Amino acid sequence: MAERSRELVALVEAHPLPPRRGASGHVLDDLALASSRYAIAAERNGTSDLWRVWLAIERERGRTRGQSIDSLSPQGRRWLALWAFDQDDDDALGVDAYAAFLERPGRMAPQDTETLRYVRALSRAGRLDEALATLDRLGPRACVETCGLVAELIAAGRAPEAVDRMRAVVHVYDDSSFAWAHLALALGATGADEEMRHALRESALHEPLDPRTSMELALATLARGEHLNAWCGPEGPSRDRSWVEWRAASGERLVPSEDPSPHTFGGDLLELPDCRCGRRIRSVFVLDVREISLLHDRLPRWSLVPLLACADCVDWMLRRDFAFEGRALRLVGVHGAFQACDPTPPVAPLSTRPARLVPNLPDEQGFADWRYTQVGGVPFWVQGPRRVRCRSCREEMVFVAALASSTGFEPYVPINNDSGFQYHFACNECRTLSVLGQWT
Ligand SMILES: [Zn+2]
Ligand SMILES: [Zn+2]
Repeated sequence: MAERSRELVALVEAHPLPPRRGASGHVLDDLALASSRYAIAAERNGTSDLWRVWLAIERERGRTRGQSIDSLSPQGRRWLALWAFDQDDDDALGVDAYAAFLERPGRMAPQDTETLRYVRALSRAGRLDEALATLDRLGPRACVETCGLVAELIAAGRAPEAVDRMRAVVHVYDDSSFAWAHLALALGATGADEEMRHALRESALHEPLDPRTSMELALATLARGEHLNAWCGPEGPSRDRSWVEWRAASGERLVPSEDPSPHTFGGDLLELPDCRCGRRIRSVFVLDVREISLLHDRLPRWSLVPLLACADCVDWMLRRDFAFEGRALRLVGVHGAFQACDPTPPVAPLSTRPARLVPNLPDEQGFADWRYTQVGGVPFWVQGPRRVRCRSCREEMVFVAALASSTGFEPYVPINNDSGFQYHFACNECRTLSVLGQWT
């Protein structure tokens, strides 16, 4: 082996790669090859210390940081950045690698919590304006990232700018308690007390806040003589309480029927829109709510309610809002960034089969049976928002159904990659339908 630095040799010994079949000699004989092998292994392992070895090899090759980062795949840049942010001493490397990833992210969209780490690292390095320029490029859909810079903007004496940015965010994410809470923090810092109270009330409407945001709000509002609890209202139901409520009202479930039925699996009774992935959204079931007494009482303006899914992409993770125009359903809102398509094979067109409702019994452990679609009753909340408001009238919507994978029906339609439900809510007045995912 050619002469290599002691540090590099020690690192390679501490983090050896599996031997390559048929290869002889030492891994460090060919530094370019060693670099590419360690980069591939590190990318597969996420944030492991294989990146440290790779960096040492790159240094030994005399390459600049820019050259090294350029040689990585988009996912390699992303993992290198996340690894670097985990180290206490190397924000600059993480910033450079993540900036290169954001420039060309490849197939996978950047994730908000990861981009947040990047903009916070920029801000720590005294580069707040660059962090804000990143937010500008992402636009108001950058909810988590913008919230994450509110405290930084306030500390920099730029609270009015924080207010403007958060107003744009809540315009898009008006069901996010997290966004409203950060608007409240920004408003509080500008002294706009009345508006702050309004934002606090909105933040109490949707979902319980995470502990950190609650603490920030508590500190900010207590310092101003406000009593946080008065504005934050009751917490959302805890997981345990949610189960108790669900067991008392678990609704009915859909199973195949031999006889004709007002409810169907599949069917093309309604005109459905295309999903953002380009494929047609399916109505996996169509319910006739006139025949479901509990729902009919609360949705007298409704007759047919489709239970919708795109089995071809991962937009199921986001809330989607639909509106009826005659028999045609329009997709009027998707709140969040579109992600790459689901790699599972496309599902065949659905033929129409009758479906009937039977009591929705808990499984042996007393929990919801994830295999069956629940109709009526109360939803079991795993994630937020726990209260769903119509985007048109802001009134609370009626829970119609939790769509599960189509157990018992052919073809089988997997919902949420077989891990959870698509909750369907309807507004009687506006005839809007909102669908949001819950997963396990
Ligand atoms: Zn889709
Ligand atoms: Zn409405």
